[in-house]
Amino acid sequence: MSKISSYNVEMFVASVRNEFESKLQEWVEIPTVSSDPEHRNDIERGADAAVSYLRALGAQAEKVPTPGNPVVVGKFVTGAGRPTVTIYNHLDVQPANEPQWTRPPFVFHKDGDTYIGRGTTDDKGPALAALFGARFAVEQGIPVNIQFIWEFEEEIGSPHFEHFMKGNYKRLGTKSVAVSDTIWISRGRPAVAYGLRGLAPMRLILETGTKDVHSGLTGGAARNPLGELCQLIAECYDARTGKVHIPGFYDDVAKPGKAEIASFLASGFNVKRFKDAHELLKLRSSDAEEIVRRIWAQPTFEVHGIVGGYTGPGVKTAIAPKAEAKISMRLVPNQKPEKVFRLVRNFIRKHNPDVQVEPESFLSPFLGPNKGPYADAARDAMRTAFGKDPAFVREGGSIGAVVTMQHYLKAPIVFLGLSLPEHGYHAPNENFDWEQASGGMRMFARYFENISKMG
Ligand SMILES: [Zn+2]
Repeated sequence: MSKISSYNVEMFVASVRNEFESKLQEWVEIPTVSSDPEHRNDIERGADAAVSYLRALGAQAEKVPTPGNPVVVGKFVTGAGRPTVTIYNHLDVQPANEPQWTRPPFVFHKDGDTYIGRGTTDDKGPALAALFGARFAVEQGIPVNIQFIWEFEEEIGSPHFEHFMKGNYKRLGTKSVAVSDTIWISRGRPAVAYGLRGLAPMRLILETGTKDVHSGLTGGAARNPLGELCQLIAECYDARTGKVHIPGFYDDVAKPGKAEIASFLASGFNVKRFKDAHELLKLRSSDAEEIVRRIWAQPTFEVHGIVGGYTGPGVKTAIAPKAEAKISMRLVPNQKPEKVFRLVRNFIRKHNPDVQVEPESFLSPFLGPNKGPYADAARDAMRTAFGKDPAFVREGGSIGAVVTMQHYLKAPIVFLGLSLPEHGYHAPNENFDWEQASGGMRMFARYFENISKMG
């Protein structure tokens, strides 16, 4: 039996709509852009606003400093000995300098049920929906303690989150974590992500001289670093199919099962919408199943840039002394970035020993539960709130904070995202809407109740 009656939930949701909107307005209008040092003071203001709101709602709250931006930690304590569930969101935002914004990005605008402004969907709206859901669960006497971790550096790759976790994990003990920062595949079809890809970026550098030389005077004898890097890259992978030729690269890949693929496809994934959303003219495959495998469950090898040589108009017949290729691999469970790096480095040593391989910072892939009690709790909560079972999907990107929380908190992590593709993540005219916000409050309230029954 549910302690939360649907009548009570509806009363609550209707009664807090104004408060939700004015709080979202207040938060959106603090431009917490983490990538721009000019906004450092706004970050502090954003964190202070979050702390004072948590306190006003009766939660414990503090702003925890790091060598970078602070992290806000809050907690509704309902009773010692009760299980704690932790909600992770981030309250920093992307910059908003795209010319396509039709109104000032940091002035909140309400258009019917739609809320427009930078940060509405990523991730201030979902953070508030989770907070309101928590508040309702506490009011209803659900026997669970609810803790919040609100980061202010997510959009710049969480450079100090590990520092924060290392210094605080002992007092942040939790039975489970819910992250609300992911996107459904289509409206009306809830999606629960349970996997993320990792990342192994690196630079390949080849230096064969100290200055540009004349291809008439030296060509034929001089080595060409640009050409050699192109050749090396072509040896590493087939750029047409994406297949990686480095021995051992695929050894640790956990292949998704039939049921997982069926669930990916049940998310409402659609090839045309995918192409349109990303303005892709041509793909490596036009088959939906093949595409979802490729973006969610297979590793990649990419070339992001090749630097060196002449790039002005026409042709200048010089041979450059140095070239650099910027490459990365997206990794899937159970690949390890350090192992992949060793494989790549050994392969490159064998094929072109003069090329230096410089690693950048690595992120491990992540796989959470897609069955068992936490997946069941999420499924039931999504169904109760949105009227439909969620599809269990994965995300092709990486969220560094998730892997860090897994490492330090050693608790299951579930993704309960509320954003939609049309909300414009990281895009101009970012928006969120009341349907997802109110559904999110219902969903979180139910999720907390489900968690409380797990004992
Ligand atoms: Zn986000």
